[in-house]
Amino acid sequence: METHAKVVIIGGGVVGCSILFHLAKFGWKDVVLLERDELTSGSSWHAAGQIHTLSSDPNISRLQSYTIDLYKEIEETSGQSVGLHITGGFYLASTPEWYDYLKRERSKARYMGLNQEFISPREVAERHPLIDPKHYHAALWDDQDGDLDPSGATYAFAKSAKVHGAKYYTHTPVTDTIQRPDGSWDVITPKGNINAEIIVNCGGLWAREVGHMQGVHLPVQPMEHHYLITDKIEAVANHPTRLPAGIDYEANIYFRQEGQGMLLGTYEPTSTPWKIDGVPWDFGHELLPPDMDRIAERLEMSFERLPAIGETGIKDMINGPFTFGPDGNPMIGPVPGIKNYWVAVGVMAGFCQGGGVGLTMAEWMIDGEPSIDVWAMDVARFGEFATPDWGTIKSSENYERRFVMTFPNETLPKGRIQKTTAIFDRLIAKGARMGQGFGLESALWFADGPEDAHEAPTFERNRSHEYVAREVKTVREAVGGIEIANFAKHEFKGPGARAYLDIVLAGFIPKPGRVTLTPMLTPKGRLYGDLTVACLSDEHFMLFGSGAMQEAHRRWFEKDLPESVNYKNVSDDWHGIALSGPKSRELLQRITRDDVGADAFKFRDIRETFVGDVPVKLVRISFSGELGFEIYCKPMYLLKLTEAVESAGADLGYRWYGARALMSMRLEKSWGVWTLDFRPDFTAAESGMDAFINWKKEFIGKSAAEAERVNGPTRKLTTLVIDVDGIDVSGDEAILIDGAAIGYISSGGYAHHVQKSVAMGYISTEHSQPGTRVEVEILGQMYSAEIQGPPLYDANGANMRS
Ligand SMILES: Cc1cc2nc3c(=O)[nH]c(=O)nc-3n(C[C@H](O)[C@H](O)[C@H](O)COP(=O)(O)OP(=O)(O)OC[C@H]3O[C@@H](n4cnc5c(N)ncnc54)[C@H](O)[C@@H]3O)c2cc1C
Repeated sequence: METHAKVVIIGGGVVGCSILFHLAKFGWKDVVLLERDELTSGSSWHAAGQIHTLSSDPNISRLQSYTIDLYKEIEETSGQSVGLHITGGFYLASTPEWYDYLKRERSKARYMGLNQEFISPREVAERHPLIDPKHYHAALWDDQDGDLDPSGATYAFAKSAKVHGAKYYTHTPVTDTIQRPDGSWDVITPKGNINAEIIVNCGGLWAREVGHMQGVHLPVQPMEHHYLITDKIEAVANHPTRLPAGIDYEANIYFRQEGQGMLLGTYEPTSTPWKIDGVPWDFGHELLPPDMDRIAERLEMSFERLPAIGETGIKDMINGPFTFGPDGNPMIGPVPGIKNYWVAVGVMAGFCQGGGVGLTMAEWMIDGEPSIDVWAMDVARFGEFATPDWGTIKSSENYERRFVMTFPNETLPKGRIQKTTAIFDRLIAKGARMGQGFGLESALWFADGPEDAHEAPTFERNRSHEYVAREVKTVREAVGGIEIANFAKHEFKGPGARAYLDIVLAGFIPKPGRVTLTPMLTPKGRLYGDLTVACLSDEHFMLFGSGAMQEAHRRWFEKDLPESVNYKNVSDDWHGIALSGPKSRELLQRITRDDVGADAFKFRDIRETFVGDVPVKLVRISFSGELGFEIYCKPMYLLKLTEAVESAGADLGYRWYGARALMSMRLEKSWGVWTLDFRPDFTAAESGMDAFINWKKEFIGKSAAEAERVNGPTRKLTTLVIDVDGIDVSGDEAILIDGAAIGYISSGGYAHHVQKSVAMGYISTEHSQPGTRVEVEILGQMYSAEIQGPPLYDANGANMRS
């Protein structure tokens, strides 16, 4: 075995083998995979082998589609059969809600160019004689779905990797990973050690144990899972073609043909996490004892829907473990805070996603960035809040909800109050309905007290609508306050800080006491941040940005940080309140000795001072589009600041507002938000963030941004007003002209002040002229919409600057 490699991959399941294949295919030959036992000695060998493209995240759907298309290639390259059957498959809607859900999926498929169509229950029965159609409203049909042989597929990846020049060693367990001072890794095995520039944890069932070797705590959890295989069924055996695959969401089952019988699996409502305290190293090609009682209820329902299965004997019952993550999506990429340590773990549908994960990891390593935004899979979407217990709780919840719909207004119940601020109880007492982001609780909207703080999950506007309207009115006419603990804060100090930020950020770096807004670009010119930069002194800067992205941004900043710069993610060190509204200055003036008048404290000023008798960083900016101030204090001062704000604001009509009101108001200003309208899928010019670029300086991504400036972007972020009532977009809907998709919605909702249903979306440039009429597909209905020009509220920003 060699003693050095550029990359060592730990784990020879489908995921590790796919990464090995992609790295070698794209030109990195000096890559080695180490497998403890034989290949496929984790969950890969006993998978049901069902493959499909549907995912709640469009980019994951794209990668699943890529994965399925790849199987033919690796079969040809390796000469190893993957046992592929592309039968097509259906997603069955047995309730109106599931029908609605699938209509949303259909809308996504339109702009993604995926081949998905609705078929009637009669057509379902024609294509699959075992299904009793009376249970269904319709089914979404996907040509690309089918099944394969999981072992064959894993070996085909590994053998294809070998053809491209990579190596793998079986019966070579990694017993330790030790980092050298130069950042490289010594990978320790009984057969010798390899020094690697990069290591990749693809440990699957043992991902946590492999992580522990280096103090990396991955919030993933193996779960027990059952599927059964029936005896021969005549209707299957006699069918002229292989039967299509299927998923019935309400019954929580998936099924496909297996030999002359059927395979049927189910996700039971009470999950069984397996080996919470750690997976033994000697677990191998074993299965777990089946427990029919656990899945009996689901089976009964499935026997009603596919009666022939209930009437046939069971040939085999498989209970095997596989690993889930907290939100069901994989965790991939470089781990923030630890150099050259990559993961691809928690891949719960390895045969649907393994190819896409391999592609993404290889692009990321070789090119420095993946070709599409993979935020939904990025390991950096979790931080230290994702503790082992939290990981087990959320992964179990996710298993139980595998085929359970999550509505756009729904907040999931498990793993809550992981992180709270000092005024959590106070806001709850006032009627806050809380959501959770990056582990932290923050208010979505405020009801009339705790008893009133409830809403039913729905696609439509719900009872929170009127309460949010009240919050918006308060901000637009008086003064409101929202917590800002959930914004990310990054601190840079040192003699090199300004020069560093000038290169990393594309916009203007402000003078002391001032604040600017700037895009941050990747070398390929794609958005990697929309950040507010505050200069506290020549060698001291604070950046404010997306709370969700804080660890991803930390990883970005730490990557090539010069020695002359000190950087820290200080998001949890600064909590606070944003005051917004025409009376916000009056309120603020009552609780500070500083002059905060329009001339003394200008729009985009920042200063360190005292407000409400506590030390703060006070910034004059607002995301509501009104006159506003952000007041940041250390967490232990938040309660005192809150009391000062509430009592000074009482006679001014002060009210708390939540994230939904803020999102409503920013739509009126046509301001995008990170993870929705701003993401690495888009460029500065496409998103309009190029307006904040300082073209006179050098910065990362400049040449790509300049090239786009010459040619112009092919699509643009635009605002639309939709002629619709009772329902608003929730994201990812298709935008069409004459039935052809010309773009899609990135975010939207009801804009309470202007009383319109508003959306933002990316539209091909040729159709993005203000006044253009388009259609937006919401739950299968086409609604007329018009592309807007200037913002719908305070177009020249006079209120904000007042
Ligand atoms: C019952 C069941 C049905 C399923 N059905 C489907 C399905 O229909 N479709 C689908 O897409 N997915 C399905 N899955 C999920 C699928 O099996 C997993 O997503 C996939 O196997 C994950 O692959 P992996 O490579 O991440 O992990 P694993 O397959 O667990 O591989 C990890 C590998 O790492 C090795 N390893 C660990 N530690 C070390 C070490 N220290 N040194 C060296 N090697 C090490 C292990 O030996 C193992 O071979 C199913 C799973 C189960 C259990």
